[in-house]
Amino acid sequence: MTTSSDGTAAPVWGDLSDDARAVLGPLREFLDAEVRPGATHRDATGEFPRAIVDELARLGLLGMQVPERYGGAGLDGETAARVIEEIAAADGSLCLTVASHNSLCSGHIMLAGSEAQLERFLPPLARGERLGAWGLTESGAGSDAAALRTRATEEADGTFVIDGSKAFITQGGVADTFVIVARTDAPTEGAHPSDGVSAFVVDGDTPGLSRGLPEKKLGLKSSDTTALTFEGMRVPGDRLLGTRGAAFRDVMRVLDAGRIGIAAMAIGLGRAALDVAARYALEREAFGRPIAHHQGVAFKLAEMATELDAARLLTLRAAALKDAGRDFVAAAARAKLFASTRAVQACDNAIQVLGGYGYIEEYEVGRLWRDARLTRIGEGTDEIQHLIIARALIRHYAAGGRAIDLP
Ligand SMILES: Cc1cc2nc3c(=O)[nH]c(=O)nc-3n(C[C@H](O)[C@H](O)[C@H](O)COP(=O)(O)OP(=O)(O)OC[C@H]3O[C@@H](n4cnc5c(N)ncnc54)[C@H](O)[C@@H]3O)c2cc1C
Repeated sequence: MTTSSDGTAAPVWGDLSDDARAVLGPLREFLDAEVRPGATHRDATGEFPRAIVDELARLGLLGMQVPERYGGAGLDGETAARVIEEIAAADGSLCLTVASHNSLCSGHIMLAGSEAQLERFLPPLARGERLGAWGLTESGAGSDAAALRTRATEEADGTFVIDGSKAFITQGGVADTFVIVARTDAPTEGAHPSDGVSAFVVDGDTPGLSRGLPEKKLGLKSSDTTALTFEGMRVPGDRLLGTRGAAFRDVMRVLDAGRIGIAAMAIGLGRAALDVAARYALEREAFGRPIAHHQGVAFKLAEMATELDAARLLTLRAAALKDAGRDFVAAAARAKLFASTRAVQACDNAIQVLGGYGYIEEYEVGRLWRDARLTRIGEGTDEIQHLIIARALIRHYAAGGRAIDLP
């Protein structure tokens, strides 16, 4: 092994930075003591862990990438991905709460907000005094987000009146601050359907906003998911985020960045499944030896470790590209597609390694599989990731590119 002059191992790409260590050390201690032990219980009750979210705020993790001047921790994207992975390895539901608050709600405000909006809306979100949510999806508009029908009609004094509904909104029932995407202008003849879409920052207690009952989900049960309905919801003009009618591009950029977080979440869940499976395989004996020494079991563990390592490298690379201000769209889609599908497979392998016990709730791997399954759907399904990757590939080759310099 190559060592540096002080005798420590020479750093390689993918190692934790000193900044990341400073964040992850206390976080791991907190997760081991306060979060992981209750994850199975919260999965059974569906209880939203408000006190834990407040603790994460105290650790600075509700303003992970918010610049310090707005009260955030100002973490780079690679460190933020490591944080997300770590939280997911302890509790997937909590991870989705943190990821959507940070990357969707605060992320959209950071991307499109005016200086006055950044100063007004980011600090309470970053300090965790207000929980954030992001409303794009509707019952008739998911992958085809531009088909959204929620309308925002501008009145003479600049107030917008919003009517419509949203589906599957994370933190829908508990958020204080929403970013809501609505159509301010009907698309004109020949224009793209995404034209005329705007975004607004909306307070949770705005008259005309109603929250649905918590959805009964397959997994991520202590993450809050509800529908929202808007009936004559009046929003002052200074809540318009970005340029009127041109928010769809911002929406896509928010999702591009959010995919790095969902990839990291998948890795954390897969990693937890590998931990359970490997420990079990060393203890459980069959045919006179630990099942880890049966090749059929050992190869499953090897496959899990290999694919999770590859997924983490893809994810950190997408985060590094984004941090460097380079095009990261296809890299993030590749990371999310690979990490989420491989994490679900890792959880499935873990169930198989545990045999009958894998099918019993107490053994955690079933929850990990149910939680991981969302990562193949949220912030763009597998199929949408394939579309993004394929489109970038076609553009690349049409412009004379080669496989060695993929975007
Ligand atoms: C737990 C949870 C939390 C969520 N949180 C939020 C949130 O906070 N905010 C928010 O706005 N949304 C949220 N969502 C919504 C989520 O982003 C959507 O569910 C997702 O984008 C898919 O949309 P859909 O459910 O309408 O499926 P559809 O778009 O109807 O897709 C159905 C199937 O058709 C496939 N398909 C669609 N179009 C194509 C195509 N062109 N080519 C090939 N296949 C295609 C899809 O891949 C999928 O397999 C959440 C969803 C869940 C389940």
